[in-house]
Amino acid sequence: MEHNSSNFIRTIIKEDLESGKRDHVVTRFPPEPNGYLHIGHAKSIVINFGLADDFKGKTHLRFDDTNPLKEDQEYVDAIKEDVQWLGYEWEELRFASDYFEEMYDRAVLLIKKGKAYVDDLTADQIREYRGTLTEPGKESPYRNRAAEENLDLFERMRKGEFANGEKVLRAKIDMASPNINLRDPVLYRVSHASHHNTGDKWCIYPMYAFAHPLEDAIEGVTHSLCTTEFEDQRPLYNWVVEQCEMKHQPQQIEFGRLNLSNTVMSKRKLKQLVDEGIVDGWDDPRLPTISGLRRKGYTPAAIREFVKETGVSKGSAVVDEAMLEHFAREDLKLTAPRTMGILKPLKIVITNYPEGQVEWLDAEINPENPEMGMRKIPFSREIYVEQEDFMENPPKKYFRLFPGNEVRLKHAYFIKCEEVIKDDNGEVMELRCTYDPETKSGTGFTGRKVKGTIHWVDAKHALPAEFRLYEPLISDTEEEADETAGKTFLDYVNQNSLEIVQGFIEPNMENIEPHDKFQFFRHGYFNVDPKHTTKEKPVFNRIVSLKSSFKL
Ligand code: ATP
Ligand code: MG
Ligand code: MG
Repeated sequence: MEHNSSNFIRTIIKEDLESGKRDHVVTRFPPEPNGYLHIGHAKSIVINFGLADDFKGKTHLRFDDTNPLKEDQEYVDAIKEDVQWLGYEWEELRFASDYFEEMYDRAVLLIKKGKAYVDDLTADQIREYRGTLTEPGKESPYRNRAAEENLDLFERMRKGEFANGEKVLRAKIDMASPNINLRDPVLYRVSHASHHNTGDKWCIYPMYAFAHPLEDAIEGVTHSLCTTEFEDQRPLYNWVVEQCEMKHQPQQIEFGRLNLSNTVMSKRKLKQLVDEGIVDGWDDPRLPTISGLRRKGYTPAAIREFVKETGVSKGSAVVDEAMLEHFAREDLKLTAPRTMGILKPLKIVITNYPEGQVEWLDAEINPENPEMGMRKIPFSREIYVEQEDFMENPPKKYFRLFPGNEVRLKHAYFIKCEEVIKDDNGEVMELRCTYDPETKSGTGFTGRKVKGTIHWVDAKHALPAEFRLYEPLISDTEEEADETAGKTFLDYVNQNSLEIVQGFIEPNMENIEPHDKFQFFRHGYFNVDPKHTTKEKPVFNRIVSLKSSFKL
């Protein structure tokens, strides 16, 4: 895979190799298995696997599973699937929980060195004592316990003698540090909870800030890449590695997060949408999860190219969804077969076409990629067109069907609207048209021109199909509003984010499979939905429409 555009992390790694600071590269992608991966994680994956690859190094997939309450095997499995689907292979699969014993030993070492102590303050008190940016913190009354006492208490924490929250282990650093992260951060907490990997073996769990540097050091990670919100934690990261006397010293480097417009990205919010049934699972096509994008119809290549285009820098960026869509079109235009589908059918009877006659018309599968060959489309006396391709009283510049007007049927003939059939309520039920046999597509007819070309399917041969059309789940401005208006993001969910319609497709699509992708003429690119498609009826998710205002 190609990752060769330069960025500041690449420069650091290159210099480390040239100066002899490192003689190899190990990176890791460290998700917490507390939800499904999203497009932001894809950025971290592309960066970590991509850079290691470029420098002939290796990458671990490491589950950062130090918080049993939120983690689950379902997430472990989904994350593995998504990383592989994106096209990456980890050199080693690791679990932070496999290092719990070693982490415990390192904590004991800190206690013996007088660098950690057991604190009896409550979580609220600890927060209060921590101080603020302008005020130094206050030392806990338990801060100067003797090492012996700390060792005894820590061991008893492990044995389960204390309730959740009753005691914590804290680093003994500096309560007056200008960096609040260094004001005696908590290293271990009591949590009587079953862990998806270690079961009931432990009732104390290490905090992220303690566990993460140890995990990196244990695994020999050379460059530990994370997002910029961890920048202030870097001194603590280095403190842990040094004070725990780890042989290997990893280097933390931060890059800016990727955020997408018109959606939510945090796992907590995504989980809420799933748990409350607002969306159809973690793989709902409206979600920015990898599995949602896959189900919608995005290809791994489109996601990788998108992520690379967003670049690697220190700044976080909210990227417009239109840019992601651009890469879907780019990736599909040469590979997706063209076809015609009617989303909201209106019947037409072609009164001068012989009853019982069927002809099979030839059409290119993909005019941009002629090697894909030709397909056959039936044409007979009754067809369906889109409801919106007819207007009884059209405005100016409406070139589609209206009484007396002639249009071209794609791949077929010119037809002229002769009569409108309505029901008792005045609703248009059907059109009667005539066709002109001389205008057959491909015969070179030049006798007269029409301004509109519309798509259609043959009524007798067409297959039923369901189409699912998506709009943004949340509007951007509304997402921002939620912060100030005292509402939650759920108040801003777009109620029209999914439209389901029943229509028809060409009969040559009988044997399509989940995840087959097509370009429906005038409607855009669609993916065969793997969840709701049945033998009787395929369900198509619209990936993107054809129009794009986005330019790179
Ligand atoms: P969330 O905040 O959505 O819950 P997280 O950061 O807690 O996500 P982790 O499982 O801890 O999720 O993330 C695994 C890796 O992916 C981390 O290294 C993290 O920095 C990176 N990552 C997560 N979200 C993004 C993002 N939006 N852009 C870039 N990298 C990200
Ligand atoms: Mg996390
Ligand atoms: Mg997070």
